[in-house]
Amino acid sequence: LITRKSNYFASGPAHLPDFVLNEASKALFNFKDTGLSIVEITHRSHDIETVVNESKNLLREILHIPQQFEILFMAGGASFAFANIPLNLTGRIGYAITGRWSKLAYNEALRVNPKHIQLCDTEAIGYSELPKVDELDLSQVDFFHYASNETVHGIQFKQAPEVPVPLICDMSSDITTTAIQWEKYGIVYAGCAKNLGISGMHVVIIKKDLLATTHTVPNIYSLRELAHSNCLYNTPPIFQIYTTYLMLQWLKANGGLPYFSQKSQQQAELLYSIIDANPKLYLTKVKPQYRSNINIVFDLPSPELVINFLAEAETHNLYGLKGHKIMGGIRASLYNSITLEQVGELANFLQHFAQKYS
Ligand code: PMP
Repeated sequence: LITRKSNYFASGPAHLPDFVLNEASKALFNFKDTGLSIVEITHRSHDIETVVNESKNLLREILHIPQQFEILFMAGGASFAFANIPLNLTGRIGYAITGRWSKLAYNEALRVNPKHIQLCDTEAIGYSELPKVDELDLSQVDFFHYASNETVHGIQFKQAPEVPVPLICDMSSDITTTAIQWEKYGIVYAGCAKNLGISGMHVVIIKKDLLATTHTVPNIYSLRELAHSNCLYNTPPIFQIYTTYLMLQWLKANGGLPYFSQKSQQQAELLYSIIDANPKLYLTKVKPQYRSNINIVFDLPSPELVINFLAEAETHNLYGLKGHKIMGGIRASLYNSITLEQVGELANFLQHFAQKYS
């Protein structure tokens, strides 16, 4: 195996395990000794159908997805999903806006149909707290849409909201890091570029009875048609699907949900403990109980210190730590392929920087 520089904490596209990249490279040149690249083989072949089916089976196994749910691999990222889902669903969706991605999802839903509703927007408090969902007026809505983890603001629902309507959730940045209470959901969707492979594809996990009631839309947008064709309505993003398949194999071989959910909590606790021990240097906005286990977002007292932090981090082989452009500051994204050892290296650097600048 070729080894690479791997302390890469970017928010997505995420660092990928060497196993995934090595296997994907081999398949790109010669898939399973067929003498053809995986991207050259027709999607009407047994080989490609097997990749699709095995990927679905692995995802079902890892996330304990009940049989009442259909698994769909669809071209386009999560941004495609949050525009396309309101196009397909007949009901009215209520949106809890808790950061950048849920806001964008609501804006796109409004373009599809002005009937969709904003239930709350916590922007006025800087997205520092989650809403109390039992205080929201859900009398007009058929679904409750939320983003379980807001990748930009670093705020996360640690449990599914308790509401009387089915949930629709954007899990792009925390899927495979927590168990999902499927009985509460109508749809879970996620872009693949963080914990499920590479960009350009998303996964929609949708209750089959909802599929039956979807709008008739052009086939290329249709979740129903995608389900009927087993994700092979047209030439699919097969390299993306194959990368997801490899990622799922890797997740399973390395401990699956039990390991990755425990690891996610452990690594976040380690970094927040150092942040909290240095409150004058490492500045956080989100209230501790809502802080994301995935995207550790903090600022420093001056823009110069941010520049120093990023430059010094690179001298310690730590990359991808710059905050989102609307936030500034620092963001460390801890997706599945980042190891506990690598988080340990980042923790040592946070300690070292605090000793130097406090
Ligand atoms: N939702 C969330 C929570 C995200 O983090 C992102 C990407 N960072 C998106 C949606 C958009 O994903 P994509 O770029 O794949 O469309």
